[in-house]
Amino acid sequence: MAGKRDYYEVLGVARDTDADAIKKAYRKLAIQLHPDRNKEAGAEEKFKELSEAYAVLSDAEKKARYDQHGHAGIDQQYSSEDLYRNINFNDLFGGMGGFENIFGQMFGGGRGGPARGRDLQTTHTLTLEEAFKGTEVDVTYWRLESCTPCKGSGAEPGSKVDTCPTCRGTGQVQRLARTAFGTLSQVTSCPDCAGAGRRIEKPCRTCKGSGHDRHRRTVTVSVPAGIESGQVLRMAGQGEVGGRGGPMGDLYVEVQVKPHERFERDGADLATEAFISFPEAVLGTTVTLEALDGPVKLEVPSGTPAGKVLRLRGRGMPHLRGAGRGDLHIAVRVAVPEKVSDKAKALLGELAAELGADATKMGKRKKGLFG
Ligand SMILES: [Zn+2]
Ligand SMILES: [Zn+2]
Repeated sequence: MAGKRDYYEVLGVARDTDADAIKKAYRKLAIQLHPDRNKEAGAEEKFKELSEAYAVLSDAEKKARYDQHGHAGIDQQYSSEDLYRNINFNDLFGGMGGFENIFGQMFGGGRGGPARGRDLQTTHTLTLEEAFKGTEVDVTYWRLESCTPCKGSGAEPGSKVDTCPTCRGTGQVQRLARTAFGTLSQVTSCPDCAGAGRRIEKPCRTCKGSGHDRHRRTVTVSVPAGIESGQVLRMAGQGEVGGRGGPMGDLYVEVQVKPHERFERDGADLATEAFISFPEAVLGTTVTLEALDGPVKLEVPSGTPAGKVLRLRGRGMPHLRGAGRGDLHIAVRVAVPEKVSDKAKALLGELAAELGADATKMGKRKKGLFG
């Protein structure tokens, strides 16, 4: 076909390069050109070109034909499904995030090989004090693990296990699929052995042949100081066991922080209230508050109106990322006693007369009363 680039040039390797170096070159470039990571125009086309070059040069027979006859030798001989027949993309990129579905997305194919175990999710509730300090919590949950007696094989220990005749032990079968790029071969899990590659004569009694059983497990999760409700901690490899030696899934622990009786929270900032008397509001005072990290002194200046919010910088919650802490906001409340002594009544009467109309004047509205 005219216009096709030389396969060695596409992979950036010399003509006498060995199979291992070809594989390495392909992996390196494929990671750069992965359509999930590389959004440049034409990246997907380049990825296809690269994969075609690899399909040919990684196969001894195709490589020999290409070396002798060039593109014409390949294009006349192989359909696109023939071209990709022997590549196992899962082997090339197994365990590397974002490659599992690449051929599914690009060529409409499924993936073969051992399946990764399921991710699990659980929730853990903390107090605000725990979120303030950071803590370690034990999370207990059920998960599927490899069955102990049969070591995950699904066969009763000591019983006969044959190679699956359908997939000849590979656990994978190829099937043809029509896609936007033509008819291609897809590798999928063998339907007769579910990817195990074996035919079991006598299923394991413990797991009834599944190779899995459920266990209750406890993992210790390190919770960083400053965590907020709804944030999720990932425990890599603590999910369920994969099929046929596939990797374990992950455990996701969603954190909830209980409401606190004295503090409200907004990110790293905390808010609370301080009650003072009317004389204190007029004359000014010092109030000692119990913050999350111990007592803190708040200076209330003379003439502080009720509802005024004062701020103590750096006395809020720790920032989850980065150093320092948020602020502590304190709304000043003027306590109005319901019962007072006769003496206090008399003094307040005198005070009211002394202050006169000034004390009852209606204040000018600054903001909407409903916030
Ligand atoms: Zn099979
Ligand atoms: Zn078993």
